[in-house]
Amino acid sequence: MSCEGMSVLVIDDEEGMREGMRRVLKKKGFTVDTAENGADAIDKMKKSAYDLALVDLKMPGIDGFQVTGFIKEHFGDGTVVVIVSALATVEAAVEVTSRGAFDFLVKPFTPADLLQVVERAVNQRRLIQERETYLTELNSERNLSRQIINSMREGVVVVNLNRRPVLMNPRAEFFLGTRFSEGMSLEEAGFSDQVLEVMERLFSDEKDGGQVVLREKHQDQMLEVQLTPHLRDGARVGVIINMRDVTEEWKAEQDKNRFISMVAHELTSPLAAIINYINIILTGMFDEKPDKIHEMLGRSKVRGEALLDLIKDLQYLNKREAGKVEKSMEPLDLSAVIADQLEFMKGQAERNRITCLLEKNEDDFTVHADRGDLDRIFMNLISNGIKYNVEGGTLTVGLTRNKKDILIRVSDTGIGMSEKEMANLFQEFYRVKNPKTSGISGTGLGLATIKRVLDGYNGRIYVESEPGKGTTFTVRFPGVSSPV
Ligand code: ADP
Repeated sequence: MSCEGMSVLVIDDEEGMREGMRRVLKKKGFTVDTAENGADAIDKMKKSAYDLALVDLKMPGIDGFQVTGFIKEHFGDGTVVVIVSALATVEAAVEVTSRGAFDFLVKPFTPADLLQVVERAVNQRRLIQERETYLTELNSERNLSRQIINSMREGVVVVNLNRRPVLMNPRAEFFLGTRFSEGMSLEEAGFSDQVLEVMERLFSDEKDGGQVVLREKHQDQMLEVQLTPHLRDGARVGVIINMRDVTEEWKAEQDKNRFISMVAHELTSPLAAIINYINIILTGMFDEKPDKIHEMLGRSKVRGEALLDLIKDLQYLNKREAGKVEKSMEPLDLSAVIADQLEFMKGQAERNRITCLLEKNEDDFTVHADRGDLDRIFMNLISNGIKYNVEGGTLTVGLTRNKKDILIRVSDTGIGMSEKEMANLFQEFYRVKNPKTSGISGTGLGLATIKRVLDGYNGRIYVESEPGKGTTFTVRFPGVSSPV
């Protein structure tokens, strides 16, 4: 018997008995205290707790019954009681056992008798200790699970077979716009008809009905709702509902789908035109008119080149999104970059009889950027300012700087746009369709690309325009703060 750390209180009014028991138990390694009557015992127990109490039943004053009562009331199973009684009081000893004492020992007894009973009591005490530890652990595990469930970003609801929610974490309350209360109904929980229908199926479907995942809109949010049968020993006892906010993924998917269908549409029309020209040539109807064939081939070439431009732009956008465009960030003088670009576009401007001007003061226009990105932004704007201009018009690029930012205004005196035409200007493939733009080729990807590139620099682009008067694009680009 291992008695290490076990404490015993021996309560007996007979000194010989008391001391005898003390000796035997001490030898076995118990920590032993003695009390000579009930009052003394209660005093001692108020001061310290004992694992075991050996209680003499018949004592003057407060007797063994009362002491046992006190122990059960104050310490419950924390102190195991063994009643010590004379043969004449065995019945009473049995009685007190039924009121909470663990066992009894009949006087006179040998040390071996004592140890046998005490050993059983010690085992009982150990069992109780183990159960207490287990319960404490279980309780703290429950608390932990509860905390985990409550801190989750997913909403969790558990519904029992009576169709009552029995658990709902705060996130689920938020998604469902409700407050959990014991005994609330599914309707009060705010589930949609769709979810209720699936839940019902999971309740009734004994065989296969596994997990079901569905999506549904809750105001501006797209929620993914996952319903799983809650099983205990293979039997259905309820349904576990998980809810996740998938708004971002959903929006991205929608953008992607929209983009793919636009790409398909944009690729179709030039290809269809080219195939059409080839088919006409193949009929042989213009075999005798090489000029006509030339003209059609020329048009096919233009459409083919436009298609290639479009594909290149798409490839660039794709690479950029995937982070595969190599960048080399360096301090660059934006005014010098733009002067270069204007020089580069000189040929095209002269062909369209457009005068290009660069207006700037002596401010510092240094930016920290990738040269390729700056070309994408400003070459597109300059090229548009020439393309959508009128013969003899002007394109002016003006640079100014405030404390933090550099403002670049690209102004033309061209065809301009109405408010309505500008509404979707920065969307991929958007092109203004009117008689003035009909002969001008483009992909509709330039401004969308500019916007995406600028986003990467925390830059902004604004537009002002008036039909027949011209257009001004203003780019706000963060400048490198100049040393004071
Ligand atoms: P595109 O390849 O068609 O030029 P962009 O994305 O650069 O594509 O421009 C989108 C549309 O915006 C153009 O098709 C055109 O209708 C209009 N636009 C762009 N810049 C100007 C401008 N400076 N003046 C008038 N319209 C413009």
